[in-house]
Amino acid sequence: MSLKDPESSNLPSNIKKSQWTRREWLQQAAMAAVLLPQDYPGGFGGWGGRGRGRFRPRRTVDPSQIPAYKYRILPVSRFPSLQNEYNTARSNTQLGSAKLYRDQIVPLNFKVPADFTGAKSVIVVAVYSKNMYSNFMLDGNSYRVMVPFQYYNDDLNSEKLKAILQKEVIKSPGRRVVDISSNVPLKLLAARSGLGHYARNSLIFVDGMGSYNMLYAFLTDQPFTEDHWTELRILEECNHCHACVQTCPTRCINRWNYSVNIDKCLTLFNENPGEFPNFIYGSMHHALMGCMKCKEPCPANEGIAELSGKLEDVSEEETRKILKGAPDDALLKSLQRKLRQFKAAASREQFPILKRNLSVLIRA
Ligand code: SF4
Ligand code: SF4
Repeated sequence: MSLKDPESSNLPSNIKKSQWTRREWLQQAAMAAVLLPQDYPGGFGGWGGRGRGRFRPRRTVDPSQIPAYKYRILPVSRFPSLQNEYNTARSNTQLGSAKLYRDQIVPLNFKVPADFTGAKSVIVVAVYSKNMYSNFMLDGNSYRVMVPFQYYNDDLNSEKLKAILQKEVIKSPGRRVVDISSNVPLKLLAARSGLGHYARNSLIFVDGMGSYNMLYAFLTDQPFTEDHWTELRILEECNHCHACVQTCPTRCINRWNYSVNIDKCLTLFNENPGEFPNFIYGSMHHALMGCMKCKEPCPANEGIAELSGKLEDVSEEETRKILKGAPDDALLKSLQRKLRQFKAAASREQFPILKRNLSVLIRA
């Protein structure tokens, strides 16, 4: 994997709120419908095709050609415009009315923090990340379970990114860099900075890494001459494709207007505590958390979706303890290492989520 984006090298209810969901929902929250013009080529949703041809083999991608990260820069003077757009987006009730979702988007904003009034620019970053798999042992069998890229701790984390940006982008010693990823609507920032494009499944696609990206935003007091403000554009492949509409297990992707009904998205339910509603069947689950069904068939992810890594195996004894919902300190510590800080294995409070999600995968 190349460490740096070569293109940018020239650019300077029964659901309770859980701790990490806001970040995930920044990825998942659908805003494209109210932000994108509806007369883009391909028409209003258009029937189009089904992605790649049925008999054409999927292309392969050399992982070393995938950029580790890409970035774009906007001056903070763009924040008022972004806030206006965001206000419009979140008032769109098409996107879902679930209290959890609404609660999570309310605090997001494009305001410069009171303790950083000298901020001049925001650097928005997309980091490539791939899914991982772990084998859970039980009764002499091995169950291969997916841990999607949003849920384990990747090597290129916030602290490392800050150091890279200081060295490679800011290049002026002593400048302040603050991670504001949890406070801003990242997808809108990525789309407006030209870092990525919205797609029919409401995800952000970044050239070279598809939707397998984690978004971050960093404020800095470094002024840049660059301003990458960009008109919103839909992912070109969507003009002739509805593959994600067809593979979404809960049918929550709107065929017509580039929005996702968050109230029905599998991720909303398996990220959070509580029983699954009746319309979510056990057979719909395919990952320890989250859902990859609208990413896997996407032609813009071709060759990228197939890449994955391997986590340590979870032993028979550990699997039994998880399924019993009986965590002890040794188990939590071991799972944190093996599953790379997977959130639901981080504490006894979150453990019921892990127990429920693994149970449905192993016993489905
Ligand atoms: S997001 Fe991907 S799968 Fe969905 S319509 Fe667009 S190109 Fe097709
Ligand atoms: S495929 Fe899964 S993640 Fe995508 S919209 Fe449907 S339920 Fe949500």
